[in-house]
Amino acid sequence: MSGGDEGTNPSKGPGDATRIVEAGRRPEWTQGIVSPPVWRASTILYEDVAELRAAAGRDTHHRLFYGRRGTPTQWALADALTELEPGAEATLLYPSGVAAIASALLAVLSPGDELLVPDSVYDPTRGLANGLLKRFGIATRFYDPLIGADIAGMLGERTRAIFLESPGSLTFEVQDVPAIVDVARARGIVTLLDNTWATPLLFPAIGLGVDYTILACTKYIVGHSDVMLGSVTAAPGRHAALRDASYQLGQTASPDDAWLGSRGLRTLGVRMRQHGESALRVAEWLRTRPEVARVLHPALPDCPGHDIFARDFRGASGLFSFVLRGGDEGARAALIDGLAHFGIGYSWGGFESLAIPVDPERYRTATRWQAEGPAVRLQIGLEDTDDLIADLESGLARFRAAAG
Ligand SMILES: *Cc1c(COP(=O)(O)O)cnc(C)c1O
Repeated sequence: MSGGDEGTNPSKGPGDATRIVEAGRRPEWTQGIVSPPVWRASTILYEDVAELRAAAGRDTHHRLFYGRRGTPTQWALADALTELEPGAEATLLYPSGVAAIASALLAVLSPGDELLVPDSVYDPTRGLANGLLKRFGIATRFYDPLIGADIAGMLGERTRAIFLESPGSLTFEVQDVPAIVDVARARGIVTLLDNTWATPLLFPAIGLGVDYTILACTKYIVGHSDVMLGSVTAAPGRHAALRDASYQLGQTASPDDAWLGSRGLRTLGVRMRQHGESALRVAEWLRTRPEVARVLHPALPDCPGHDIFARDFRGASGLFSFVLRGGDEGARAALIDGLAHFGIGYSWGGFESLAIPVDPERYRTATRWQAEGPAVRLQIGLEDTDDLIADLESGLARFRAAAG
């Protein structure tokens, strides 16, 4: 499986690859220039007082008003992301993925509310729940990411929102998003999904009933490890609350960063297809190795929620983990430290491969992480896969030597 233009259905309009190339390129914003150019602005000048007053009173969506509300550069990327989520109402951009998560949660939660968050969540999201949200009187309960429809048993009078992230950060549990969404909808509870791993290409979340889908565009949308950017796309009827909260919080993304986001977006289809194909090859190779106990790649059967992945996703991206058999911190470091083609760094989704040690047991509170040995997370980049496999082969030899 891989992302891209498979499954094109003429009755549904253009395929993904076509939409990625064409999305957000409105002639009135580009004047015919192929890529939406960078419009930088703080001040917008008006003809006279009457025009200034009229501007202040009307909806500023797609109208120049004040730099913080964006220019055609940001609107072009936001609109493109909306077009990639069939059925979505609108998208707002943020200066990072974490800012997008924080703004979406602050848009829907009030003091006294309860939030449910999967135990496999990206750690800064946990930090927000246990920090600012808690201080503002919003309680969070963490749940087993594999809970599915049984989440109904966790809902209380005050449960206002369910956060989802699928697959989970570090450990890649695939959540039953449609089942959780069904339960939430029946109770009037808002759902928010961190869809950074899949992007709308591999998991069109709004069409599956999610209320807010969040991307760390820093990762695959930008795709070149050189920009921080986030987005939230809202289902019909959900945009106004997000817009009001985001305006009040002063959230905005710079035109230069949005422009790089639009530039990255145009190649998302081919990049995702290659990331997906190369990562699956590396994952399948790792699975054959005696030093490896388990490969946590959603397209492989060892991964919790693999059946749900096969049912709901249109392919896999390039990020997964594997668990070593035995060995300790030192043996894992020997594996990672000597890698020639993998950088050691956190923010993934760029063209380059990465490897980091991961220790899920440090973060969990609702479930227990038990493993045969230490774990490693890989981002498989766009290098030649044979080089990456050879590199990992030497790494596993170093691991064996150090583990004794
Ligand atoms: C990186 C990441 C984020 C945060 O994005 P930033 O742009 O780095 O703030 C959120 N969720 C997931 C799953 C991520 O991997």
